[in-house]
Amino acid sequence: MTAEFPDIALQQLEKCARCGKCRSVCPVFDVVKDEAFVARGRILLADALRKNQISASNEIAAIMAACLMCRRCSGICPSGVEFTEVLKAARSQIAKEVGLPAGASFFFRHVLPYRRRFNSVIRIAALGQRLAPARRKGNLRHLPLLFKGGKWLPPLAKISALEAYSKPARVENARLRVGIFVGCLINYVYPDFIDATIQLLRRAQIQTIIPEQQLCCGTPAVALGDVEAARMLARRNQEHFREAGCDYVITLCASCGTMLKREYPQLLDSSENPFGVPMLDLSEFLVRHVKLDYGRLQDSVTYHDPCHLRWGQGVIAEPRKLLSDVCHFQETPGEMYCCALGGAFSLTFPDFSEAIAQKKLQSLDALSVREVVSACPGCILQLNDLFARSGSDKKAVHLIQILARSIKTLT
Ligand code: SF4
Ligand code: SF4
Repeated sequence: MTAEFPDIALQQLEKCARCGKCRSVCPVFDVVKDEAFVARGRILLADALRKNQISASNEIAAIMAACLMCRRCSGICPSGVEFTEVLKAARSQIAKEVGLPAGASFFFRHVLPYRRRFNSVIRIAALGQRLAPARRKGNLRHLPLLFKGGKWLPPLAKISALEAYSKPARVENARLRVGIFVGCLINYVYPDFIDATIQLLRRAQIQTIIPEQQLCCGTPAVALGDVEAARMLARRNQEHFREAGCDYVITLCASCGTMLKREYPQLLDSSENPFGVPMLDLSEFLVRHVKLDYGRLQDSVTYHDPCHLRWGQGVIAEPRKLLSDVCHFQETPGEMYCCALGGAFSLTFPDFSEAIAQKKLQSLDALSVREVVSACPGCILQLNDLFARSGSDKKAVHLIQILARSIKTLT
């Protein structure tokens, strides 16, 4: 008897020509050098899993978990294999056979869909942060993570973005209504990004709409193979944004953006845009729909491509154009390394993550710039952890922070 993989995953299995080109770009294979840890090897294992030729052992589960879901392999694959479709099917099968990691199912069903419960969990976590007050570059050392990778993470915000900014002031004669999908990391760690976006769009006569009941996009559930939990979150978000009546929906999080653009149509079984209006990354929206005078900054910056923006959405030129317009922008020389956060990847596989991240750090060290701009809160968190641990004087910031600074020079 064979396991049921969705058609889209079966099509990818059939398309793979076993050429091995994916080995040349995979950040995990680059450090592990083991065929099982690249798309081609995992495709063979997933096919064997599907045919019940192998079982969902801990070893197979770990191999499937040790993927960053960066989509670089899909970007280079000559046969057009969307490897993440195979990976999601394999992870879902493993979750069915051996269950989700402890507590994950409860969290996805009983915390993530309820904003107040999620807020309460975050408040408890914030209290925990205060028990570990060692500071370096504004980062707090997290007790639970101290023993597993020892990451330096930023403090949780006292007030979340949804609590602080879900009722933006009315813009008179607004020419557009733009919904902002906030995402968990920005909501609880970087709420200032949302404030800066509201202020910037207000200058362009754009009314921002931030539905207060919006939820997690569901990326963690998809990543762990809990498709039903992800579908439930997608449905709720679809309802909230459709009710809000926007002309566009934008996000400042590359991972949320990939989820909304690429996973929601599948989860919601919809060929049309699930929100009924175009869904864009902030940089895409600004370049295509906003004409603003920006001030010129003296700062020199480089840009870190979030995998989920470059390979997940094909958004490459827009952030670079905006940065070139407002400051001295330099490309990072050499390879475009991944930051190696990958959701839970950096916690589950700290050694792999560290080896990949060190390559990123070395490529950035070759530049004299102080700021590394990105368009994903996850990359920013990971890069700042990396800088803090290495003693680097560099800082990772979001594109919106640079644009907000540029606008300030005009006032
Ligand atoms: S590059 Fe594509 S076709 Fe070639 S082995 Fe990798 S997934 Fe298969
Ligand atoms: S998604 Fe990224 S980490 Fe996973 S196999 Fe492809 S290139 Fe490697």
